Amino acid sequence: MEHKYKTQVVNDEILEKLNLKNRYSMINNILMPILTPEQFNLCKQVQRFCLRFEKKNNITHGPNEDVYEWVGAFGEKGYLSRSRAYEIIDQNYEQHGLVADFLRFLPIDMFDTQFAFVTGANVLAINPLYFHHDNIPERVEALRELVTGKCVGCVAITEPERGSDAIHQLTLCEEQEDGSFILNGEKVFQTNGPRSKWAIVYATAEKNKGDKMAQFLVNTSWEGWQCERVNIPWVPKIEIGKESLVNLRVPKEYVLGTVGTGRDHLFEGLVDERVGIAQIATSQCWGALVHAMIYANIRKQFNQEIIKFQGVGFLLTDLWAQLTNVTLGLIKFCEIFDQKVEKFGGAEKIPNNIKQAMVASASQLKYQTTHLSKVISYECANAMGGAGLSDNTLIQDYLGISRIQEIVGGSRQIQQYVMSMALRTLFKMSL
Ligand SMILES: Cc1cc2nc3c(=O)[nH]c(=O)nc-3n(C[C@H](O)[C@H](O)[C@H](O)COP(=O)(O)OP(=O)(O)OC[C@H]3O[C@@H](n4cnc5c(N)ncnc54)[C@H](O)[C@@H]3O)c2cc1C
Repeated sequence: MEHKYKTQVVNDEILEKLNLKNRYSMINNILMPILTPEQFNLCKQVQRFCLRFEKKNNITHGPNEDVYEWVGAFGEKGYLSRSRAYEIIDQNYEQHGLVADFLRFLPIDMFDTQFAFVTGANVLAINPLYFHHDNIPERVEALRELVTGKCVGCVAITEPERGSDAIHQLTLCEEQEDGSFILNGEKVFQTNGPRSKWAIVYATAEKNKGDKMAQFLVNTSWEGWQCERVNIPWVPKIEIGKESLVNLRVPKEYVLGTVGTGRDHLFEGLVDERVGIAQIATSQCWGALVHAMIYANIRKQFNQEIIKFQGVGFLLTDLWAQLTNVTLGLIKFCEIFDQKVEKFGGAEKIPNNIKQAMVASASQLKYQTTHLSKVISYECANAMGGAGLSDNTLIQDYLGISRIQEIVGGSRQIQQYVMSMALRTLFKMSL
């Protein structure tokens, strides 16, 4: 069996105590007072599945494991997305919404953070398809495949020359007489790109014109789609793509939003997307913190458990306090969002003024949780000394993945920009 590590430096007792079951046990004791019994139950169901899955498949989280091979099994259990009930594809998840999706995600992230991120990016392809399937069989079938893990999806917004400035795109779409479109251009940094069957692609009828944008569902096996893998060394198991679209023909059935609607389609998913990243970052914080909590309670120096030294103990309590507070805020926001979805009959039907306020909150959550993920993952590894820097434990994976969170889904500075615009609107509304 492959080991996670090259050479063992952490002693047997600590390595054994850091097992998934114990990590779940710690997080459960932390979460129990915060969650309702139904919420807690969903989290525990997913935990039970992950524990069995890890054992049955001898998963060590070693460097050569292919996390994409696990997607099917999680999809069959209904653990790839709980954002919606997905009645249209007969899934009918009783517990669904942003809170449910967080409680699905957190245990999966503690099982394997890079795998969890793959499922998170898949949700970004699922959401727009759910909003715009319009009961067209080809789209509904693609939705079914993505939700049930028959394949993986990606979303293609970013281009080599258009990153933060995502609405002034250069990828062109040209409408044909039969209603199909021809796409030409380049995309980059698509999470899951090289492994995806389906891609949600944005393009424009005129370069740099946001009001000419359109949205497409693309089967990556179609002629004209070429994808190379981009190496992001922080996350060696996540496959990220750079795509060339050369005279790629998209049939009419796969046009999710025609010219002029693409920008709105891009913005309508922003709250889900940013809160999704906040959930991902928060889960990573818990994953890292639980490692350090267990380690510091067992590791001895000067004949004492290192948690008893204030330098370590108070550091962990400081991180714990910050993380608990942000988790409470995140869950509260998710609950409010879920209530609004229910009240108005769908996320897309929430009135614009409420949505606007939620965009600012989602940016605040994304901004703060991704910052925390960067700080907590590093500080937890640091509190574990040399062991935290070695490849022996999963803290190494958290350290790596936490480095990408501030960039994905809009950089820190872009979130600050969005928030400062919201402050300006608030001022104008108030005075
Ligand atoms: C691992 C990874 C996964 C990703 N996954 C996806 C995906 O699945 N799909 C997808 O479409 N994209 C994806 N992205 C792309 C990601 O959304 C972009 O990288 C991000 O939006 C930043 O764009 P950029 O890299 O071009 O940087 P740039 O936009 O060039 O920014 C460079 C720097 O300038 C700053 N900056 C830019 N404009 C402003 C401004 N107005 N004010 C202040 N500062 C500014 C930025 O904050 C940043 O620090 C992914 C990226 C990474 C690294």
